[in-house]
Order: sequence, then structure tokens, then C-alpha cells
Amino acid sequence: MESETMIAIVKERPAPGLTLKRVPVPRELGPHDVLVKVKRASICGTDVHIYNWDAWSQERIRPPQIDGHEFTGEVVSIGGDVSTVKVGDSVVSETHIPCQKCLQCRTGKMHICKNMQILGVHRDGVFAEYVRVPEVVLWKVDPSIPLEYASIMEPFGNAIHTALVTDLTGKNVLITGAGPIGVMAVAVAKVSGAAQVIVSEIKEFRKELARKMGADVIIDPTKEDLTKKVKAMTEDNGADVLLEMSGNTTAFKQGLDSLTNGAVVSLLGVFPGELSFDINGLFTFKGLTMYGITGRKMFETWQVATQLLKNKRIDLSPVVTHVLPAEKFEEGFDVMIRGVSGKVILEF
Ligand code: NAD
Ligand code: ZN
Repeated sequence: MESETMIAIVKERPAPGLTLKRVPVPRELGPHDVLVKVKRASICGTDVHIYNWDAWSQERIRPPQIDGHEFTGEVVSIGGDVSTVKVGDSVVSETHIPCQKCLQCRTGKMHICKNMQILGVHRDGVFAEYVRVPEVVLWKVDPSIPLEYASIMEPFGNAIHTALVTDLTGKNVLITGAGPIGVMAVAVAKVSGAAQVIVSEIKEFRKELARKMGADVIIDPTKEDLTKKVKAMTEDNGADVLLEMSGNTTAFKQGLDSLTNGAVVSLLGVFPGELSFDINGLFTFKGLTMYGITGRKMFETWQVATQLLKNKRIDLSPVVTHVLPAEKFEEGFDVMIRGVSGKVILEF
């Protein structure tokens, strides 16, 4: 038993790159721990930061540590007090581990826990054959949902959480940034009855993804005036809702400028630093409402994600552009870095 090992993708040293190697299986479980056999895991932008060893990761990651946080798998053993899942269950997982004790956790807002721990950031992640997680993060998933889609329910949940802060029925929705999350938000807005879903994106590959996911119009703000085009499509009013999913300052400002008075902004994108913009003209005097989005609601977002996939209301196939054996992870990071991918999924 002691010598039992598994394949894992590890940040071995405080330097760029990741290493595929054999490490011990984390068999020892606390009373509320669950050991999950990982079936599919997916690469997130955060993993690319960790791979590149940028300033953000240097501050947070303590090597050696297994990378990865988006996954689906099967429960193989449970701690003595685990009661919400059993051996053999198919599960997906929150990557945000709430403390369950702070004010937010005790008042129904676990997704903004003050003592949040993140899988693959503060502790060993899921790019491995097995991962040990506390039962609180697990969500049982219908085995009829294909593994590839189950493994991206976490970023799909970001799209759902961001899009559904307001009623989208009959609304003109503008999405800035057609990365994997932006294009999944396109589908969520469409299924929610948006009047028009307008996307702003600069990369060709991503424009094509947005089109495949159902965007009505895709605008390249480096080639056309976004605000003018949006106004032309909305009786000169501007969009009713902005879903900011680029993390780009220019895209955000253009997005705000393209909104009608009284519009709603839902902000998921993470900006590289401080922002400076005309808050009076672009926000206050327009009477906008802005929501900051972090993660997914536990677990109402997961319930919506499950139902949309189980009942085939949304087809995620265009988003899954690469499925690779874990051994070929370098190829996956390469297409992610070059922006010529949707979601890249690894098989363990
Ligand atoms: P991504 O980087 O793959 O996608 C961003 C897209 O925005 C890219 O396709 C890029 O070409 C496009 N873009 C860049 N500049 C633009 C501009 N000026 N105009 C229009 N489009 C532009 O990222 P993703 O994985 O889809 O995630 C989306 C954002 O959400 C990122 O900023 C990410 O950091 C953030 N995020 C936040 C949370 C959270 O909890 N708040 C969780 C996950 C991801
Ligand atoms: Zn908490």
C-alpha cells in the first residue's frame, strides 16, 4: 500500500513549466474527506498562470504541488463521517473550499467565504489519477452527462453565475471577451431568451467559437466602433446587459459605453491591475447596476448547470476543442497560451 503511486502533473520547483511524474496516492482520509478517481480534468487560465510562473502564482503557489482544479470523477473511498456521497458516485467539484464557519458561510454565501481555500492553488490539485477533497465541495452529477462536459461544469458555472444575475428575457446582451467562459455565456443568454446576443472579441479563433455557440453578431472592436454598432442594433439605445468576460480594460470601457441608461453589468473578468475610467459618465449618471462575480453559487449554480446539460438545453461540444491523454499536457498548454483553443481536457 505504501508504495502505491499515481501519475500527476506537478509544479515541482518555483520556475516555469510543469512535470509529469509518479507521486503517492493520497489514501489517508480525514473523517470528512473523499478520495475521487479523476476521469477528466480541464485546463483553466489559472493553470496557465501557474505553468508560466507569473507574479500571481509566485505569490500563491508553494511547490511541490499538484496542479489543476476543474474535473469530474468517481468516488472510490470515503472518510468515516462522510454522508453526502458514497463509493461509486459520479461527482464534479467546487474548486473553492469554504470554511463553513465564517459569517458568509453561515448566511448562505459560501462562494464568498472569507477563508476560502482553492484546489490546486492552496493545496494539491486534480491533475492526477486520484484527488482527496473535503465532501463539502462535491456535487453528484448525472452519469448521462458526457465526462468532457462534466469536467468543465466549473467554468460553465462561471458563465451561468455571471449571466443570470438579472433576467435576460427579451434583453439585448453584450458579452465582452469570447474565451471559453464568454462563449458558454453566449449559450446561457440564448437559452434564457435574450433578444440579441452581441459579442466583442479580437481573436479569429474565438470569434468562430462564439458563432458556433449561437452569438447573433460578433464585433471586432479593433475593426469597427463597438458602441456605434451596438446602438445601431438597439434602436439607438445601447445594450441592456453587459457580461464582462475579457479582463481587458479597453473592452470593459467600450462595454460600458455601449450600454443604455439603467443597464446591468456583471463583472467576471479579472483585470491585470487598477482601472481608471470615467466613472461619472460611464457608470453613475447612466444609473447602472454592477455585480462582481466570484466563482459559482454553492450549489444553486451547479444545479442549473446540471439541469441544462442533463436535459440537453445547451450543447458544449464546440467549446471542447481538445481532448488529450495526460501525458500530452504540454500540447494542451501550448494551444491555450496561443489562444487557439476552447477548453482543453486531459484524460487520466
Ligand atoms: P480568456 O482569457 O480565454 O478569454 C478572454 C477573451 O477576451 C479572449 O478570447 C481575448 O481575445 C478577449 N479579449 C481580450 N481583449 C479584448 C478586447 N479588447 N476586446 C474584446 N475581447 C478581448 O479567459 P476565460 O477563461 O474565458 O475567462 C474569462 C475571464 O474571466 C478572464 O479574465 C478570467 O481571468 C476571468 N475569470 C474570473 C473568475 C471569477 O471568479 N471572477 C473565474 C474564472 C475566470
Ligand atoms: Zn467561510
